[in-house]
Amino acid sequence: MSDVPAHNDKVEHGYSLAKVVNSAKCPRCSGPTELRYAEFIYATQKSPRVMAAPAGYFCARCPTVIIDEDLLRQGVTGNFVYHSVIGIECEDKEKGGPFKTWNGRETVVYIDEVENTMRLLMKDELARPLGHASTPSTQKSQKAARRREIARQSRKQNRRKR
Ligand SMILES: [Zn+2]
Repeated sequence: MSDVPAHNDKVEHGYSLAKVVNSAKCPRCSGPTELRYAEFIYATQKSPRVMAAPAGYFCARCPTVIIDEDLLRQGVTGNFVYHSVIGIECEDKEKGGPFKTWNGRETVVYIDEVENTMRLLMKDELARPLGHASTPSTQKSQKAARRREIARQSRKQNRRKR
């Protein structure tokens, strides 16, 4: 594996090898990729860990990497269980860190300080339960409130009839 060069450039976008058709072609810009060594930050059931492995196909034109997650999964040692990759560890913080997108979707870094775990969440998944993406208009929520009020009154009326 010594002939695999180490990656030392900016990385912002990560893709899973399982999600791309061709690891030789960048899914973002269609540029050529090259297999390189890097330090991959990955989530486990405990704290996040870092693994140096030749598991990334890095784009020559843009800050994108396709990651062989099977290789990382197989390389995990000790009592740790591989969950998902978070980003690339780099001495230069400007170049590495958690991915801004994963499989083409914007990410949010989620840190659980109680469990001491870290993982990447997809912004579009997060938006729904928290209601950031589709905040109901005032009119809509008023309608909903009115509907609840109507339902309550009709129950009262039913009770009175009996
Ligand atoms: Zn590219």
